[in-house]
Amino acid sequence: MRAAIPSVDEVLRGPAGQVALARHGRAATVAAVRAALAVLRARMGEGAPDRAALAEAAGTQALETLALEEAPRLRAVFNLTGTVLHTNLGRAVLAEEAIEAATRVMRQPAALEFDLETGGRGERDDAVRGLVRELTGAEDCILVNNAAAAVFLMLNTVGAGREAIVSRGELIEIGGAFRMPDIMARAGVVLREVGTTNRTHARDYEGAITERTALLMKVHTSNYLIQGFTAEVAPAELSRIGRAHGVPVLDDLGSGTLVDLSTYGLRRERTVRDALGDGADLVAFSGDKLLGGPQAGFIVGRADLVRACAKNPIKRAMRLDKIRLAALEATLRLYRDPDRLAQRLPTLRLLTRKPEEMRALAGRLLPAVSAQLGPAWQVAVAECASQIGSGALPLESLPSAGLSLTPCDGDGRAPERLLAALRALPTPVIGRIAQGAVLLDLRCLEDEAGFVAQLGALKEG
Ligand SMILES: *Cc1c(COP(=O)(O)O)cnc(C)c1O
Repeated sequence: MRAAIPSVDEVLRGPAGQVALARHGRAATVAAVRAALAVLRARMGEGAPDRAALAEAAGTQALETLALEEAPRLRAVFNLTGTVLHTNLGRAVLAEEAIEAATRVMRQPAALEFDLETGGRGERDDAVRGLVRELTGAEDCILVNNAAAAVFLMLNTVGAGREAIVSRGELIEIGGAFRMPDIMARAGVVLREVGTTNRTHARDYEGAITERTALLMKVHTSNYLIQGFTAEVAPAELSRIGRAHGVPVLDDLGSGTLVDLSTYGLRRERTVRDALGDGADLVAFSGDKLLGGPQAGFIVGRADLVRACAKNPIKRAMRLDKIRLAALEATLRLYRDPDRLAQRLPTLRLLTRKPEEMRALAGRLLPAVSAQLGPAWQVAVAECASQIGSGALPLESLPSAGLSLTPCDGDGRAPERLLAALRALPTPVIGRIAQGAVLLDLRCLEDEAGFVAQLGALKEG
């Protein structure tokens, strides 16, 4: 005999049903209860528990489904990969000051395109123009969605229908199919390649300049290095050639740091001020790489050319919203106090963290991690090397420390399974595999308590 299946209403009246209604609302709860009842119906025949028990089972099942559905898909994670600016993990972590500024304008209207002095219309990039001028020495600046958009917009504005001269050594591809030749084509610019992969000379640029030339372009080779028998034209020399022929020089700087990183113990990277000082007419760079802000792209440089970019109708399709502008303004403001920058700006704080600190942290975490994994795993404090990421100083590694987790039985598949189990934690932990072990680089772990608190949920296997 088949037991009668409870109705949706019966389930909703039960304790689990009531909790689900309160938490998730009627529409989603009814849908989840219907689905749970359909599963129960299909399983009937395997015995017939009483109707109230069935109703409660359906309610509990619905609650579980709803909790899963409501969990954010864009999950916060622990980045223990050792790559500080990890593009797939959202690059820069923002400073508290930036988070507060963004939150403020999310809650309230903001004077985004409103001039508080005249009561008339303002321009949205005004919020950061003064700061960018002060920090880079640029005449003017505008902001767009990211550096890729900045490169596109300046190429399209300065070069549409004419030629851009670029060295064959600088025809970069960066992640996500951003290839310089394709971007040029889409921007309506004719690419005029000069030189060879390993050597490009001043005479190569000079020989290619004609009346069709709109610009000379310098591209920062962020993610590779050409070594050996090489020659490139230094930015200042390129600007000299451009000026001599009345042709603007555009510099795709990529990461675009605003400070001399060597004062923080890192390798010096060409700054935005350097690029402008070398005579570039326009410079494009990212907001969320070394700068440590939200995703954004800057175009800085000569006022007339920046204004031309601002007037390009495509700018509208690339503009920043108030949330990111507020976060960016607050991030830039931190640069006015270089002495405290390395404490307040997470990107710089993490990049300058001393290996001793990570080693001590590894020592503190070791007992808890070891106890949780049990005798099948050997857990040890390990020296390792972090990377900056996002194509900044690609060959540069930063000495770091972490935990290495090695399977005692030498099972070659075990590290993959453990990585998956770490990803299944409430706040997923993202590690990597190195030499047959799971390696957790602790450079980017600042929430030690949060990491330890969820270890108990780790289900290895
Ligand atoms: C990273 C990079 C870009 C693109 O920057 P996004 O902010 O990711 O759009 C463009 N050019 C160079 C040289 C880069 O390194």
